[in-house]
Amino acid sequence: MAPKNPLSHAKSPAVTRNVKHVVLGDLLFQTWYQSIYPEDLVSKDTDRLYVCRWCFRYSCDADAYAKHTRTCLHRATPPGTKVYDHGGYSVWEVDGEHHKLYAQNLSLFAKLFLDHKSVFFDVFSFLYYLLVFTDPKDSSYHVLGFFSKEKLSWDANNLACILVFPPYQHKQLGKLLMGVSYKLSGWERDRGLIGGPEKPLSEMGSRSYSRFWEERIARHILLQDMQTGDAPDSPQQKQKPSKGARKRPHHEIITVQDIGLATGMLTEDVITALKGMEAVEPATPSKKRKMPRTAIDNALDGSEAVIIRKSKILEWAKAHKTTLEDPINADGFVGEWAPRSIRQGSPNSGEEDEEDQEDEEEEGKENEVEEEDE
Ligand SMILES: [Zn+2]
Repeated sequence: MAPKNPLSHAKSPAVTRNVKHVVLGDLLFQTWYQSIYPEDLVSKDTDRLYVCRWCFRYSCDADAYAKHTRTCLHRATPPGTKVYDHGGYSVWEVDGEHHKLYAQNLSLFAKLFLDHKSVFFDVFSFLYYLLVFTDPKDSSYHVLGFFSKEKLSWDANNLACILVFPPYQHKQLGKLLMGVSYKLSGWERDRGLIGGPEKPLSEMGSRSYSRFWEERIARHILLQDMQTGDAPDSPQQKQKPSKGARKRPHHEIITVQDIGLATGMLTEDVITALKGMEAVEPATPSKKRKMPRTAIDNALDGSEAVIIRKSKILEWAKAHKTTLEDPINADGFVGEWAPRSIRQGSPNSGEEDEEDQEDEEEEGKENEVEEEDE
C-alpha cells in the first residue's frame, strides 16, 4: 500500500525523520532522512522499524517481523536475474514491473538514507540492481545496497539512484556498483550508449562519482600502454599527423571524446575528472601564464589544446593511494553480459571486442587533449 506519488525532497532530516532507527536482519542503525511509509502502518515517531533483510517488508512489531523472517519467500535467493558474480559479491537485476512490492519496499527503505533524490514509486519503469554478498560460511546472503536505472532514459542515464546501506559504506562497494552500471550501459557494444548517472548529483554522489571517474581515467591513461603494448590501432591512440606534427617522442594527440569513447564516459564527466586530478595544463603556458585555469577550461571546452602529463596522473594516483585496480572483474559478468570468450568459448573473441570499439564513429574532434609521457 505504498503511496504512488513521487516523493518530495526532504531537506531537514534531523527534524522530520519519521523513523529513527531500523533493524535490518541482525543490524540496528540510525536513519538519516524521512521516508514515506504509510502512516497507518508506521507512525510519525517510530523509534525502531523492523525491515526484512531479504525482501524489505517492514513492521513496527518485533514479533510480526520475526515470524515473517522465518517464512520470507526470498530468504534463499534474491529475486531477479544475476548479472555479475565475483569474489563473493554478486549483482542481481530486478525488474520493478515483475517485482512491484519488492521494488516499492526497497525504495521506501532506501529513502531513509537518501536526501535529494526523489524515490519514485513508479517502479514499473525502473530496473533495480542489488549488490549481494554471500557468506561463504553458511551461504546466506546479504543485500548491501543497490542502484536503480530507468528502463528508457532519454538522457542515456546509466543510473538513477545509488545507495550502499550505512553499515556497509566505506568499503569501496559504491565503486563496484558504479562500475557495473557503466558495463550495463553497453557502451562497448553495437547500439550501446555512453551515459552517466542522472544529474544533479547529491553532494555525496558528486564526491563519489568524481573519484570514480578520476580513477577510471587514471587507469585508462596509465595502464593503456601496458595493456595494449602501445598498439597503434587502439581507439585512443589513433595518429593524426595533420594536427599532431609535434616533435617530442611519446606524445600523442587525443580528444576528450576519445577518452570518453574508450572509458564509456560522457565528455562532461571526463572533463570533471581531468580538472579534479589537476593533471592538465595549457599547451601554451607562456602566453596563458596569468590565466591557467581559464586556458584549461577553454581547452577542455573545445577551443584549445592542453597537455595531460602521465607523471601528474601518476602523482595523483600515489597521493590518493589508488591501486588503479578495476573495481569490477570483467570475467564476473554472467549471462548476456559475460565476456564473449566465456559465452562462446572462442579464443579470438578479444579481437572482436577491439574491432567493435574501433567501429564506433569518432565525432566532434574539437576537444583536443595532448597526452604526454614524462
Ligand atoms: Zn522478507
